[in-house]
Amino acid sequence: MAAKKKSAKVLRCPTCGALVRPRDEDFPFCSDRCRKIDLGKWASGVYKISSPILDPEVLEDLGGLTGGQDKGSRND
Ligand SMILES: [Zn+2]
Repeated sequence: MAAKKKSAKVLRCPTCGALVRPRDEDFPFCSDRCRKIDLGKWASGVYKISSPILDPEVLEDLGGLTGGQDKGSRND
């Protein structure tokens, strides 16, 4: 009988890229540390896409558009 070698499915840890087996305790992470790092990313908003409009340059630009009314000299 030929024992077939099952090629274990190997994935990579999302945090550090190390090889991880589905059997591993901390799957899909290679270690508890990496799992916590990943959770920390979510908690600190690294994966958030929203960006509040508080860019100083944008505010400055808006101010320049509305505040440039110094050329009001009309000669009759
Ligand atoms: Zn890892």
